[in-house]
Amino acid sequence: MQEVILIKNGELALKGLNRSTFEDMLIKNIKQKTGRLGEFYFEKSQSTIMITPKTAEANLREACEDIAKIFGIAAFSLAASCKKDFEDIKATAEVFLADELFAAQTFKVEAKRSDKRFPMTSPELCRELGGVLLEKYPHLRVDVHDPEVTVTVEIRDNRAFVHGNQRRGAGGMPTGTGGRAMLLVSGGIDSPVAGWMMAKRGIKLIAVHFASPPYTSPKAEMKVHELLKKVAQYSGRIELFTVPFTQIQEHMRGRCPEEFFTIVMRRLMMRIANEIAEREHCGALITGESMGQVASQTLHALACTDAVAQFPVFRPCIGMDKEEIITIARKIDTFDISIQPYEDCCTIFTPRHPRTRPTIEAAAKAEARVFDQAMLDEAINGAELKIIY
Ligand code: ATP
Ligand code: MG
Repeated sequence: MQEVILIKNGELALKGLNRSTFEDMLIKNIKQKTGRLGEFYFEKSQSTIMITPKTAEANLREACEDIAKIFGIAAFSLAASCKKDFEDIKATAEVFLADELFAAQTFKVEAKRSDKRFPMTSPELCRELGGVLLEKYPHLRVDVHDPEVTVTVEIRDNRAFVHGNQRRGAGGMPTGTGGRAMLLVSGGIDSPVAGWMMAKRGIKLIAVHFASPPYTSPKAEMKVHELLKKVAQYSGRIELFTVPFTQIQEHMRGRCPEEFFTIVMRRLMMRIANEIAEREHCGALITGESMGQVASQTLHALACTDAVAQFPVFRPCIGMDKEEIITIARKIDTFDISIQPYEDCCTIFTPRHPRTRPTIEAAAKAEARVFDQAMLDEAINGAELKIIY
C-alpha cells in the first residue's frame, strides 16, 4: 500500500494564471520545511498537490505535522493510493482506515470521480464501499449529516486514493508570494503575532531587533530568537538583524526632552529599519502596535513614527484587543516565551509622563536635538545577522 499526502490549496484556486506560480512557491516552501525528513516527489494535478516519498526513510506522517503549519494550504490528508479497481479500493480502505474506523461510531463515504470512465458512478461507489465497511466494522453506523469519519475515495487520472477525515491547513497564502517585509520584533507578545499574521498573507519576513546591552540582557535577545523560531515554523526561515542601540539611547538620555523620549526613539528605530529594509529589498515594515495600547500607540504618536517611515507600515494588530492577540500567541506557541520577564530597549529610560498627543512638528523638533546620522549609520553597519529556522 502506497501512502501519499494530498494537499488542497485554498485561495490558490482563485488566482487564475498566477496559480502555477503560487503552487510552485508552495511546493518550494514544503520542500524547504520537510527536507530534513527525507526526499519526496511532488506532483500537481487537478488543484491538488500530491506528495510521495522518494526513499524508504522519508516519513510522511512527520511531514503531515510540518504541513499543518505551512501557509497556502486549506486542507490536507494522508491517503492510500491504489489501483482504479473496486476490489483494490475496498481492500485498501479496510486496512488503511482500520484505526480511524475502530475509534469512531459513525461514518459516511464520499466519492469524487474526476475520471468519468470509471465503471461505477459515485453513488454506487459510496453505497458499495459503505456496505463493505459496515460488514467489516459492525459497531459503525452511517450518518450522512454529521459523521465522525468521512471516508473519501478519489478516482483520479492514474490512480485511486482513499482517505479518512481531512485535516485543516494553516490557510492563507504561500509565504513569499506577497513579497518581503521587515518585522520590527521585540520580545513582547504583539510583534511575533504581527509577523505571523503578515506571513500568513504570503509575506516573507526579514526581522530587525534593537538591543541595548548592558541595559538589555543577552537573555532578552535569546528570547527573540526563540520567538522567531516559533514563527519560522509557519513562515519558513527568517533572517534577523540585531541592531546595537545602546549608544543612541545613551546619547538621547539628557539631550531629548523626557516627554518625547519614546516617540523620538521610535522615530530613530524607524529610520534604521528603513535603511535595512531598503538594503534587504523589503516593500514594507511590520510592527505589533495596537491602537491605544500605550502612549506611543495613540493616533497622534503613530502619526509621528509614520512620518519618518519610507515604506508602508503594516500593523495587523492595530484593531485587536490584547485578549485577541493573546489567543493567537497561544495558538502559535509564542505566548509562554513572550511573558518571560526580560527588559526590552523600549522600556529602559522610559519617561514618567510621555506625551500622548504629540504633533509631528514637536516630535521632529525634539528629534533634531539628538539626531546624528553618523551614529545611525554606525548602528546600521553594526547590525548582526543571524538566520533563524
Ligand atoms: P510587543 O508586545 O510586540 O513588544 P508592545 O505592546 O510591548 O509590543 P512597544 O514596546 O511599544 O509595544 O513596541 C511597539 C512595537 O515596536 C512592537 O510591537 C515592535 O514592532 C516594535 N518594537 C518594540 N521594541 C522593539 C525592539 N527592541 N526591537 C525591534 N522592534 C521593537
Ligand atoms: Mg514591547
